[in-house]
Amino acid sequence: MTDPADLRQRILARIQSDGPLTIAAYMADALYDQRAGYYATKDPIGAGGDFVTAPEISQMFGELIGLWCLSTWLEMGAPKSLRLIELGPGRGSLMADALRAARVRDDFLAALKVTLVEVSPALQAAQAETLSSAPVVVEYAPELPTTGAEPAIIIANEFLDCLPIRQFVKLEGAWRERLVGQHPEDPGALAFVFDPAPAAAPDLALIPSHLVDADEGTLVEVRPADARIAEACAARLNRHGGRAVFIDYGPAEATGGDTLQAVRAHEKVSPLADPGQADLTARVDFGAFARAAIAAGLDVAGPKEQGQWLVDLGVQHRAIALMAAEEDKKHAIATQVFRLTDASQMGALFKAMCLSPAGSPPPPGF
Ligand code: SAH
Repeated sequence: MTDPADLRQRILARIQSDGPLTIAAYMADALYDQRAGYYATKDPIGAGGDFVTAPEISQMFGELIGLWCLSTWLEMGAPKSLRLIELGPGRGSLMADALRAARVRDDFLAALKVTLVEVSPALQAAQAETLSSAPVVVEYAPELPTTGAEPAIIIANEFLDCLPIRQFVKLEGAWRERLVGQHPEDPGALAFVFDPAPAAAPDLALIPSHLVDADEGTLVEVRPADARIAEACAARLNRHGGRAVFIDYGPAEATGGDTLQAVRAHEKVSPLADPGQADLTARVDFGAFARAAIAAGLDVAGPKEQGQWLVDLGVQHRAIALMAAEEDKKHAIATQVFRLTDASQMGALFKAMCLSPAGSPPPPGF
């Protein structure tokens, strides 16, 4: 009998009846299964969780994004009503810090309505607590809301990296999908296998054109959600105006290679060992996401390395002001700036990219 709480057993039962799964289907089960999926059951972020993100490293990250939103709103002509949408808000820290920084303009706060898009019940609870005294009304939506009467600013930090990917490998001259199947020697375990059939035309079309003729053995990752997210942003921004900023880790243009990783308690673990127990992410291919956004009818600025972006938004000035206010935190604040901006830390691998309605002026900070 399959134990419904045992996600690996259920995935194995599904493979036995339907055959190997795409990595995207496996990730969807491992991350989002209602009963045992990672985001359904865990509060993963922070020192006691599995990984740490920029807003958890420093309040400066969310504050600068709040000021970026304020300048974007001013540049839009300070509309009376603005929807601020955050995708994957984690513990709510980025939003809380952004709203605190936004207090410098009462009319901006008065214009704001906040929508959070979050799948995890545990993180929704954390967000409610962090934002309990927020100076604005906070609503939830299951997906990026494409309808609505007002312009929107959409922000997303480390959201794209957890959306399911698919992998294809060039083998014997043909692209074959890398799948998740039953381990050949250990029937209770999962293993990567290859689809014996070459990829069909609609799947081949997902492979970026500059990689289609890559050498034997090349592995390419594609992100089916890119187009969906880009189209949802376009539907909202091209109708009512606004901008979206996505910050994440990954190259400006992918060159191939397996980047799927599982992290548990700050250590890398096997992505197939314990589905639902570890966070699964893969590097964002900003080149592919930019092409999806352009195809959806948006303008793209960036990607710009996070380090330079934060410096241009004034992270050093903010750090100096915080240090002056709290002498004993000088060292801690300097360490935070280093972690967020230095190329050896998050400064170069992480990047920010801005999507805007077609024909918009360049966005602030890019
Ligand atoms: N932005 C936060 C959290 C990053 S972790 C921070 O920087 O700290 C990824 C976040 O995206 C989590 O809040 C997770 O629950 C959420 N998430 C993942 N997939 C999602 C999906 N398909 N829809 C909505 N939220 C999702």
